[in-house]
Amino acid sequence: MIQELIFATGNKNKAIEIESALPQNFIVKTMQEAGIELDIPEPYETLEENSKHKAHTIYQLTKINCFAEDTGLEVASINNEPGVKSARYAGESKNDQKNIEKLLLRLTGIENRTARFKTVMTLIVNSTVYQFEGICTGKIIDSPTGTKGFGYDPVFIPDGSTHTFAEMNLEEKNKFSHRKKALTKMLAFLNNLKAD
Ligand code: IMP
Repeated sequence: MIQELIFATGNKNKAIEIESALPQNFIVKTMQEAGIELDIPEPYETLEENSKHKAHTIYQLTKINCFAEDTGLEVASINNEPGVKSARYAGESKNDQKNIEKLLLRLTGIENRTARFKTVMTLIVNSTVYQFEGICTGKIIDSPTGTKGFGYDPVFIPDGSTHTFAEMNLEEKNKFSHRKKALTKMLAFLNNLKAD
C-alpha cells in the first residue's frame, strides 16, 4: 500500500533531501504541491514545540496525515548556539551566509569545535502526534568549504568524514544526516503501523 503524506515545510532544500531518501511506497507532497501557501512561524523555544506546531498547523488545515521537522545546529563551546534559532541566527532575513559569518566570528580563538545537528520530526496520523529525533555529531571548521547543500553545510564536517556536508552529494550526506536518521525512524514506525 502506498502512503501519502504532506511534508509541512516551505524549505525546498529540506524537501529535496527527504525526497532523495524516500522508498517507493511513500509519496510525500510538499505544501506547494498540496496547494498550501503559508509561512508557518516558529515561535517556540524548543525544536520539539516548533516541529509540532508546523505539523499541527497543516493537519488542522487539511486533515491529511502529515509531518514536519525542525532542525538546529548546536555548538557545544558556545552554549549550544545557534540551536533553535539556527535559521535566524544573524537576523530575520534567514541569510545562510550571514549566519555562518556570525557563527565563525563567535568561534574565533575557540579550540573546541564540537557540534551537532539535531532534527525533531513530528508525524501526525489520524490526529495522533508522534516525534522522532535524528542527531549527527561533527565539528565546525574555520572557513566555508564546498558549494552543495544549504544552511551551515559548508562549515560542518560530520564525524566519520573528512568532507563538509557542502562537499557531499545527497547520497553521501544521507549516510550521516540528522534528517535522514529521523526520517528512517519515522518510516519504520509507519511501516509497523501498516502491519498492525
Ligand atoms: P528550520 O528547521 O527551518 O528552523 O531551519 C533551521 C536552520 O538550520 C536552517 O535555516 C539552516 O540554516 C539550518 N539547517 C537545518 N538543516 C540543516 C542541514 O541539514 N544542513 C545545514 N544547515 C541546516
